[in-house]
Amino acid sequence: MPEPHTSLQELLHSTAQRLAHRSDTPRLEAALLLGTALNATREQIAAGLVPPLTIGQQQTFESLLQRRMQGEPLAYLRGFQEFYGRPFLVNPSVLIPRPETELLVDAALCMLQPEQLCIDVCTGSGCIAVSLALHCSQAQIAAADISPTALSVARQNALLNQTAQRLCYIQGDLLSPLANSCCRVLVSNPPYIPADEIDALTHEISQYEPRLALNGGADGMRFYRQLARQGKRVLLPGGCMLLEAGAGQAPLIEALLAETGWRLLPTLPDLQGIPRVVRALRP
Ligand code: GLN
Repeated sequence: MPEPHTSLQELLHSTAQRLAHRSDTPRLEAALLLGTALNATREQIAAGLVPPLTIGQQQTFESLLQRRMQGEPLAYLRGFQEFYGRPFLVNPSVLIPRPETELLVDAALCMLQPEQLCIDVCTGSGCIAVSLALHCSQAQIAAADISPTALSVARQNALLNQTAQRLCYIQGDLLSPLANSCCRVLVSNPPYIPADEIDALTHEISQYEPRLALNGGADGMRFYRQLARQGKRVLLPGGCMLLEAGAGQAPLIEALLAETGWRLLPTLPDLQGIPRVVRALRP
């Protein structure tokens, strides 16, 4: 526990040193964890606008720090992650939204038209569905997931971001609850890690993020195969499917979609140049 007389700056400094083995940005993480314990922003902390820590706050902070040092992701400790400029609640029943998924939102927004239904399958935290609802106010958005606990997080995120009335929530196995030809756009960031590669991911991912949201079957392609088949049933003719691909998977997904009769649009690379968003039209 920090000494009671330790100044905030000293506390930040010693915390950053303790986090250095775990994080590439230990100083930032130290400030964010301190902000969580104090219920204060980084800016308030940097400006010294917070009173000295109470004993209770010191204990909370030390316990958060211990959990972080053992590898628990910062987003789960803070309880939220920023995505597409907005806060999203997260807990261990949902994947932590990743920056590369913002490209999927950009690409889907280009395809959406007012009054049309777009479905986000494997919605998890709802980060994609809620971002689409925020930026295309006249589209109808459905958020679907097999996990009721994930869907409840998605609902909370819709409330938090004032889009609850505009979304509908569907619990079920991929597209099976949906009617034929019901939507114009289908977007998904499905689980895509090959099952036996999950344990080789970083400890933070493999030990803390939900397996259900990571496991893409033996070769990581299980959900792409199912979406290639089921997507044709639920999309309207000319409707568009947009899928996030894991690194190295885009050519395999493109081949799968081409073989199953989809009309491919060019795949979009992410900011690192990795082909990331595979797009195809239903003939
Ligand atoms: N759609 C959510 C996201 O992109 C969850 C994805 C998942 O659980 N595979 O973060």
